[in-house]
Amino acid sequence: MATYSHSRVSTYENCPYQYKLRYIDKVKVDVPTTIEAFMGDMVHQTLEFLYKNKKFKKRVAKNILIKFYRDLWKKNYSDDILIVKADKENVDAENYRKMGEKFVSDYYDRMKPFEQITILGLETTDRMTLPDGNQWHVRIDKLGCDSKGNYFVCDYKTNSRMKDQEEADEDRQLALYSIWVKDKFKDAKSVKLIWHMLAFNKDAVSERTDKQLEKLQKEVCEKIKEIENAKEFPRNRTALCDYCVYKEICPSFKHEAELEKIEDVKKFKQDEGVKLVDEYSEIKMKLGELKKQDEEFREKLIAYAKQFDVDYIYGSNKKCSVKEFEKIVLPEDKEELIKLMKKKGVYEDFVMLNYMRLNSGVIKGGVDDEIKKLVEIVKDFRLSLSKRRDIGSDE
Ligand code: SF4
Repeated sequence: MATYSHSRVSTYENCPYQYKLRYIDKVKVDVPTTIEAFMGDMVHQTLEFLYKNKKFKKRVAKNILIKFYRDLWKKNYSDDILIVKADKENVDAENYRKMGEKFVSDYYDRMKPFEQITILGLETTDRMTLPDGNQWHVRIDKLGCDSKGNYFVCDYKTNSRMKDQEEADEDRQLALYSIWVKDKFKDAKSVKLIWHMLAFNKDAVSERTDKQLEKLQKEVCEKIKEIENAKEFPRNRTALCDYCVYKEICPSFKHEAELEKIEDVKKFKQDEGVKLVDEYSEIKMKLGELKKQDEEFREKLIAYAKQFDVDYIYGSNKKCSVKEFEKIVLPEDKEELIKLMKKKGVYEDFVMLNYMRLNSGVIKGGVDDEIKKLVEIVKDFRLSLSKRRDIGSDE
């Protein structure tokens, strides 16, 4: 049995290949901390400091808390922290530092005197056992309760997108923690899930019924089973790749990373991969133009044959036959036609095997095993050209 966490399962859901590198191959890379993660960490530590003091009945004044945050930032910040949006959004570390400071300041003003709940735990590191026997990490930023038996699982969020109700009601992470709370604190009458959306100085709140939690646990166990049975770990290129620590060794970006190291334009153009793609893209362009010309010439030849009433047009070495023939055009809505053909018993005579649907059915599942045995599964390649940096649009 293994230990899973929300982040482990999410990694698989976002990119199975990243999951393989991290959890199966255990590939070690020099992981640069992103400024977003760093700022989040500083804010979390600052709020933990606030509530730790509160636990011992010590009130922390706002200026002390802000000073704590500033000192923490200064002590831990280093120049190798990655600012992905530095160029795109023209932002620097100081912008992020100020953002974090505002989050702490706004939260302080909104929540003081911090008497809403009795703190039971901060940055917990517990585990719970899932019905399938696997373990699940329970990491709660702030756990508390009130005198009426209401428990509160709170999470600080520093991202710049507000969590809407639908998202909060579908969130897996905190919902699973509420199972742990209900199990651990038998007096719990309710477990409220709270996301402190610090960038908006607002909370997103949700609560789950026992039935919903049971369904969620089942889904998580099924997902774990899928992960454990997975044989293929496909790559999933999305905008999140910019934050992936394996980007430089990922086959989807490895070549790009190598090219970025080449400063000399001449050397860049001599790279074998660059040459192949440039030439292939030129051929594709020419093919497109030729296809257009083919259409134009077809039209011209038909017009010529009609004008001079001929059905063979002669060139120097070849002749071209232009013959008119009849063909049917199917109605847009084919349902009535299919129904009638089936009624007349002729459908089977004219129907063709739908290769695309059968292919997808066999590969993705959903086709009977006996049928599967009659086809062979082979590996092939699909090539597609797209603009560079057009992440996610070429697959
Ligand atoms: S860079 Fe993207 S595709 Fe490659 S492993 Fe990371 S998340 Fe997956």
